[in-house]
Amino acid sequence: MTTPLPAPICPPRRILMGPGPSEISPRVLAALGAQTVGHLDPYFLQVMDETQAMLRQVFRTENQMTLAVSGTGSAGMETCVVNLIEPGDKMVVCVNGVFGGRMVDVAERAGAVVTKVERPFGEIIPAAAIQEAVDKVKPKVVGIVHAETSTGAWQPLEEISKIVHAAGALLLVDCVTSLGGLPVEIDAWGIDAAYSGTQKCLSCPPGLGPVTFSARAVEAIDKRKTKVQSWYLDMAMVRNYWSSQSRVYHHTAPINMNFGLHEALRIVLEEGLEKRFARHQENHVALKAGLAAMGIDYAVAEPHQLPTLNAVKIPAGCDDKAVRGLLLNEFGIEIGGGLGSMAGKVWRIGLMGDASSRRNVLLFLGALERCLA
Ligand code: PLP
Repeated sequence: MTTPLPAPICPPRRILMGPGPSEISPRVLAALGAQTVGHLDPYFLQVMDETQAMLRQVFRTENQMTLAVSGTGSAGMETCVVNLIEPGDKMVVCVNGVFGGRMVDVAERAGAVVTKVERPFGEIIPAAAIQEAVDKVKPKVVGIVHAETSTGAWQPLEEISKIVHAAGALLLVDCVTSLGGLPVEIDAWGIDAAYSGTQKCLSCPPGLGPVTFSARAVEAIDKRKTKVQSWYLDMAMVRNYWSSQSRVYHHTAPINMNFGLHEALRIVLEEGLEKRFARHQENHVALKAGLAAMGIDYAVAEPHQLPTLNAVKIPAGCDDKAVRGLLLNEFGIEIGGGLGSMAGKVWRIGLMGDASSRRNVLLFLGALERCLA
C-alpha cells in the first residue's frame, strides 16, 4: 500500500500578533518567490551590496561589517558572541528575561567566564548594577537585550554604553525585537556589536540574522589568538563573502531569503524610520487604552513598556490557554503566552512591523472582549 501524499501547503490565514513572526507584506512574499539565481551571480552580489547599505541605514551605522547572517536571530546572537569571545574571556551578561539567559548559555559554550547581572522578569537592568559589575569583573564584553520579548521590557542603553566604554569593554546588544520598530542608534549610542532577526519589526519571515560590528569590535576580532569556535559563523570568513572586494565562497547563501529581506528593508526605508517608530508607538498607546478600559494591566512599569511587545497581566480567573485558543480558532488571531517565570501569568501581544496597525488593534480588542465574555 502506498502512503497518500500529504496535502500541499495551504496555511490558515492568521493575524500574527504574537512575539514573532509578524505579518509579512505581499511584496516580501513575492520577492521570496522570485526566480532563484546562483549565490555568486552578479545579480545576487548586487542584492547583497544593496542589502548591506540598507541594513546600515536601519541600524543607523557606518559600520563596514554589517550583513545578514544565514540563520535566525539566535544565529545573530551566536555570531556576535563567538566572534568576540575567546575561551577564558570575561563577559558580563544582563539577565532579566529568557533571551538574556540564552546569551549566558551561548557565551558559556564559547568558553566565556560569565558574570550575570540579574533582575526579575519584567524589570530593566539599572545602569548602577552594570557599573558595579564592570568595576568588579573588568570584562571584555557586556551583553544586554534592548527589547526583552519574553517580558515586554524596553531597556535604555545610552548611559550603559558610556559605563561599558569607560571600563574599556565592548557593548553587545540584542536588537531582535527593536530593529525597525524602535530607535536603534548603533553609532550614536556607541554599540559595538548588535544582532537582530528578520521576523519581528522588519516583517520578513524568520531566516536571517542582521548583524553589525563597530571598528573596535572588528579590531578585537582581528586580534584573536584562537579560531572562532563556529566555522559557519566565523566573521573572518563570512565577511569575505559579503565584501564586494573579495567575494570568496563560504556557504551557499539562502538566496530567496535575502530577496525577501531586501524587499522588507526597502519597505522600512520607504516608510521612513521616524514614521515607522511613531506608528509603532501610536498603535501601542491605542492598544493600551483599550486594554485599560477592560481592566487589563501591563506587566512592565512605565516608561519601560515595549510598544512592539505588549506583555499584559492575565485577568484573575481567566483560563490563559482557553482564551488564546479561542482567539486563534474563532478569530484567527495569534498572541503569545508567557515564558519562563511569566508562563501562565501574562499574554504577549506583538505589534511589530506590518502587524502594528490600527486595524489589528481594533480587531484584537473586539475579539478579546468576546473571548472574555
Ligand atoms: N533575542 C530575542 C530578544 C528574541 O525575541 C528572539 C526570538 O524571539 C531571539 C533572540 C532568538 O531569535 P530566533 O528565534 O529568531 O532564533
